[in-house]
Amino acid sequence: MTAQAAPAALEVRGVHKAYGAQRVLDGVDLTVPPGQVTVILGPSGSGKSTLLRVINHLERPDAGHVILGGELIGVRRHGDRLKELGERAILRQRSRIGFVFQNFNLFPHLTVLENVAAAPVATGQLGRREAQEQARGLLDRVGLADRAGAYPRQLSGGQQQRVAIARALALRPGIVLFDEPTSALDPELVGEVLSVIKGLATGGTTLVVVTHEIGFAREVADHVVFLDGGRIVEQGPPAVVLDHPRHPRTKEFLSRVL
Ligand code: ADP
Ligand code: MG
Repeated sequence: MTAQAAPAALEVRGVHKAYGAQRVLDGVDLTVPPGQVTVILGPSGSGKSTLLRVINHLERPDAGHVILGGELIGVRRHGDRLKELGERAILRQRSRIGFVFQNFNLFPHLTVLENVAAAPVATGQLGRREAQEQARGLLDRVGLADRAGAYPRQLSGGQQQRVAIARALALRPGIVLFDEPTSALDPELVGEVLSVIKGLATGGTTLVVVTHEIGFAREVADHVVFLDGGRIVEQGPPAVVLDHPRHPRTKEFLSRVL
């Protein structure tokens, strides 16, 4: 038997996306091996959020496709054509991708515990009791076991974001996407959220993180991608892209954020 490489956790192939005449993603190719951390950098408007939304099938690409753990996202092959999947199949695929937003997006009327337990119950993956038990474990992992009964408004922004991370893990996704998880936080709360994300990385969860936190990228990323004008203009290990960037746009960007 020949040795076979494990399939990539995530593959983005030739993805294009335009809004009207504006090209937002202009041929993006990206491979994320299992267990690795990919950090996406790029100026505002470069297409970072759109790329994450295409991966999660919140947006449909105009061309190209996304493959998660070997499975096409949002479409299936039909002869030599691609056919759109139905709503249920898309929801099932989306449940395999954790998503953490800039603004936490917790359910305000649910307690912290209920926020984390809700999805596995709603999808029928776990019974109420098991989901709550799992939620306690996840809250412990993000350092918030003692706040299970609180409501989101009673927590700091950093705590809310840690709850959002616990919630993103509740469906046991194969990959977790973060869209600027610390940019809505007061500076003194950034560290606690980054250290939770770092803990996930160390534990072997596959992560794609859009962030402007260069120190985090340098320390935690296996792979850094620089997006500009909807194209990946440079990518590689952090020691190369961050410390010896070749492309003028990368140099200019780093000189502004460092
Ligand atoms: P980034 O996250 O890198 O700041 P985005 O992916 O949010 O960039 O946006 C890239 C470009 O696409 C921006 O110019 C933005 O205004 C535009 N854009 C994003 N979403 C939409 C949308 N739903 N409709 C129209 N334009 C959009
Ligand atoms: Mg964005």
